[in-house]
Formats: sequence, structure tokens, C-alpha cells
Amino acid sequence: MKYVDEFRDGALARKVAATIAAEARPSRRYNLMEFCGGHTHAISRYGLKDLLPANINMIHGPGCPVCVLPIGRIDNAIALAARPGVILCTYADTMRVPASRGLSLLKAKAQGADIRMVYSSIDAIRVARDHPSREVVFFAIGFETTTPPTAVAILQARELGLANFSVFCNHVLTPAAISNILESKEVRAWGTLPLDGFVGPAHVSTVIGSQPYEYFAEEYQRPVVIAGFEPLDVMQAILMLVRQLNEGRAEVENEFTRAVTRDGNAKAKALVAEVFELRRSFEWRGLGEVPYSALRIKAAYAAFDAEARYGITYKSVPDNKACECGAILRGVKEPRDCKVFGTVCTPENPIGSCMVSSEGACAAHYTYGRWKDAAIVATAPGACVGAVQ
Ligand code: SF4
Repeated sequence: MKYVDEFRDGALARKVAATIAAEARPSRRYNLMEFCGGHTHAISRYGLKDLLPANINMIHGPGCPVCVLPIGRIDNAIALAARPGVILCTYADTMRVPASRGLSLLKAKAQGADIRMVYSSIDAIRVARDHPSREVVFFAIGFETTTPPTAVAILQARELGLANFSVFCNHVLTPAAISNILESKEVRAWGTLPLDGFVGPAHVSTVIGSQPYEYFAEEYQRPVVIAGFEPLDVMQAILMLVRQLNEGRAEVENEFTRAVTRDGNAKAKALVAEVFELRRSFEWRGLGEVPYSALRIKAAYAAFDAEARYGITYKSVPDNKACECGAILRGVKEPRDCKVFGTVCTPENPIGSCMVSSEGACAAHYTYGRWKDAAIVATAPGACVGAVQ
């Protein structure tokens, strides 16, 4: 297949679904976590759950970069933006994540802070070049996919001698999060989170490759199938996981061969290794403090490290009591388990981070009507059974 439309072929999706239904054993459940928000979005948008047999249980994972950012980090960014002379640059989704005292970056902007939405880290470099008398801070978030561009921005700032540019680094690492989930009490001690296998990340894996997941398959005996973000990618990955589980195998398989290799992108990995090093610990929303799960800027690039430049200290802040984002990000609850889902909390008025980004589980469920009853689902725009085109 060559064109994106072919990966959205409804007839083919129904054929794959029929094969899954034929091969999935009625005597067992298949509990599969889609790690990435991109997969969560595809499952909701294309109605894939409705194509699957009832014993295939898809569990949302923590792979939404905006969702896992804890409130304290947004508070830090707002405090930075409030400093005289500072311009804070960030990706659009980050703007609406609720912070302390009813604030968000968007509200802080409305109150006068100079906060600018950018499409890339290089846009932030451009802002710094255009405003030499101002301090420009790039609020960098995301998994391994967005880390190389941040490294490039820091290297470019050094090349250009940009003394007014720095990065507030909040980049996080996928393998550490998967380990954290597999080691969680819900999985290991209580068994309240049955987890049989993973649909592995798409874009992240283009950078890190499939090799880092081999440890999970071997050590925890959980199969991983790396999948693209199109509906047929996801359906094929589910079929591959069902086959592995039926055969008692726990291996890393790659459905997304058109973009992912075992070793990943050597150039991107080298850029990241040049500029960043592991943090001892980092707080994730939902997962809490996770050891060696995030990156910080190396001492050699301290001149571009906003944490060093502005003496940023991190303070953990509890989530809104009504919000179940933490449990949803750990895979133990679903959006419809939250009492304020779709009522007080909507994409227009998000109470928690999972309702902000299109990759957030709550936003995906709300937008595509996956939470409504079957009758309503059948009439909801873009949410009908087999919405795959
Ligand atoms: S619906 Fe809103 S408040 Fe509830 S878990 Fe989702 S984001 Fe949090």
C-alpha cells in the first residue's frame, strides 16, 4: 500500500476484524494496551472497538505528551512567562492544560504574559533572533519524537551565538513509562490491571527503533507489536498480538515497517545523546515519580538550560480531586468512569489534561462519541460502526 487512503479502507478493516474474531479464542480475554495517544485517537475516530469481538479489551496507555505533564511543570512555565522581559514559546496543546489557581498558559497570556504558540523548536529560535533584547524560553515537552528537534534548536542557538535563548526541558522517555506500568501494583500485586500485550508506539519508534521493547517482551513476557497510526495499522497489530498470545509467544514484532527499523534513526539518537542526559527522577501525571524517565540538558549546554538560568525549582501539585486522569493514564480507569466527563469537563472547558489534546483519552472519547450508548453512537457524526472509510 502506498497512499494513506488505502490504510483507511473500510472493507479491508472488516476483513481483518473477521480474522481477529475467528482467531480470538472465546474462552479468554485479550487485554491489550495501546501505549500512544495517537492509537487511542485512531481507535475512537474510526470506531475500531465496534469492529472487534467483545473479548478484545483495549486499554489506553500514558503515551500522550500533554496528558502526562504534571501541574507543577505548567506552573513553572507560567512563572517563567511572568518574568519581565521573557517570551515563552510552546506547542499549542500545552496552552490549555489546567494549572494551579485556575490558570493555564492561555489564561496567563490573556492576563498579559508574552506566550507564543510555535509549530517547531526552530520557530522559537526565530523568535529569539527577532527579539534580541528579550529572553526567549522554549517550553519543550514530549516523548522521543520531539526530543531531537529540541536538540537541534539548542545546537543551532549555540551556532548562532544566541545568548537570549534557553529551553525548559520536559522531555520524557517511553521505555521507562512501560516499565513503570508493568511494575505497578495494579499489574503485579493486585492484578486489577490485566495486561497481555502492547500496541507499541509509532512515531517514537521511528526514532528509538524496535530494539528497546525487546526487554519488555523477554523480561515481562508481554508481546509488543509496533503499529502505525492508521486504522488498518492498528487492526493488523491487534491481529498480530492475538496470534502471538494464542501461540504463547512474547516477541517484538513490527507492523510499521514502512517507517520503523530495529535500530531507529541513528542521527536523531546521536543528536539527543550530544545534548541531553538522564534525570534521576521525573514526576509524571498519573504515574508519579518515575526513575530515569526524563531528560535534562547536559552541563556543556547549561547556557541554554532555562532551569539553570532561572533557578527553577519543581513543586508537586495534586490534580483536581474530581479528575481521574491519573487512573486513566495508568490504564485502570476509562474516561466514562469520571463523574465530570462530558458535563463539567469538555474540550472547551477541560478540567484535566486528558481532555485537552486530541491524543488524550477523554478528548478522543468525547469528540467521537465513544462514551454514548449504542443508539446514539449509531447517529453520531464520524462515530458510526466501522467509521473507517
Ligand atoms: S473527563 Fe476531565 S476531569 Fe475527568 S478524567 Fe478526563 S480530563 Fe480529568
